[in-house]
Amino acid sequence: MTKNIAVIRGDGIGPEIVDQALRVLDKIAALYGHTFQYTDVDMGGCAIDKWGDPLPEEMLKKCTESDSVLLGAVGGEKWNDVPGPMRPEKGLLRLRAGMGVYSNNRPAKIWPQLSAASPLKKAIVDKGIDFIIVRELIGGIYFGEHKTRDIDGVATAIDELKYDEKEIERIGRIGFETARKRGGRLCSVEKSNVLDSSRLWKKVMHRLSEEYPDVELSDMLVDNCAMQIVKDPSQFDVIVTENMFGDILSDEASMITGSIGMIPSSSLGATSCGLYEPIHGSAPDIAGKDLANPIGTILSAAMMLRFSFDMPEEADAIERAVSAYLDDGYRTGDIMGEGMTQVGCRQCGDLILERLSK
Ligand code: NAD
Repeated sequence: MTKNIAVIRGDGIGPEIVDQALRVLDKIAALYGHTFQYTDVDMGGCAIDKWGDPLPEEMLKKCTESDSVLLGAVGGEKWNDVPGPMRPEKGLLRLRAGMGVYSNNRPAKIWPQLSAASPLKKAIVDKGIDFIIVRELIGGIYFGEHKTRDIDGVATAIDELKYDEKEIERIGRIGFETARKRGGRLCSVEKSNVLDSSRLWKKVMHRLSEEYPDVELSDMLVDNCAMQIVKDPSQFDVIVTENMFGDILSDEASMITGSIGMIPSSSLGATSCGLYEPIHGSAPDIAGKDLANPIGTILSAAMMLRFSFDMPEEADAIERAVSAYLDDGYRTGDIMGEGMTQVGCRQCGDLILERLSK
């Protein structure tokens, strides 16, 4: 298969971590007979320096014309004082909007080798943590009307929470499709005991479930879900939820799995062209020092293969190689532990490549 990948190295540690992910993709291409063509895209601080704009139109076009986008990270102190619309992070928001990615998918997976890094009790962690939160990204209360006014002399703030059934259906489909590609279990999270938008949410999910008889659908109230994630996270496979609930639950979920350098993410819309990036930022404090952990980016590339290119075996091979690297006791500084061997970003890439096989 031939795939065109738009590559945004970005700022800070972005170029270092993306380079390691591309080496891994190149080896996958060689092992499985694929061709990955890369198109460089400038975004963030480096684009401001070069073009005076964090995401020039022609750069966005390269992304929307690609089969998917791999992003390192953007931002840094150098651009902290530039005016709002020209900030590096604005490039990222424009990219998400321009690509129409309405679904953010963040896995919460604990590597058994790193279980000591979780704040949860060992007995809970030992049962395993491996689920994905599918969060609606461009609707709900964050995108409703926000107003504050005086009513009878009392300052009153109103935030509108609105979902229509089409918005719910499109994110629901991502939830079902994701579950289908994993363990086949989908938990729909809402607050249907109080909110109308949640009652509609639940109704649409159940209607959709008739089209996905192979996926087992369950419902959970968001307050209960927040408790269950720390009480017994092993029960979850895929969670699908609205924007604000997903925002809160996905931060809770990433916290229980340990290091920020290990966690990938994907954002998807109506097409298979997705945006794949680690959840961390550009880490200016360690940039250019060969200290960054590239695994979040390498696993983002694996997600790209699994969810946009329909290459589950190739994605499994990458995850196996990362696991073997951890088994053999190698760690970058962010996850370094007693008795382990500390490596840099490039060497981490070398060691994962050595362990990557069909
Ligand atoms: P950060 O995630 O960049 O760094 C937080 C801490 O985690 C730092 O100590 C850093 O060294 C460490 N860290 C992060 N990624 C690591 C990795 N892969 N390996 C080892 N250690 C790692 O967050 P921050 O310092 O708050 O933000 C720095 C810049 O990144 C800011 O300009 C911010 O706006 C930007 N940012 C960008 C994105 C993005 O591009 N998606 C996301 C968040 C923040």
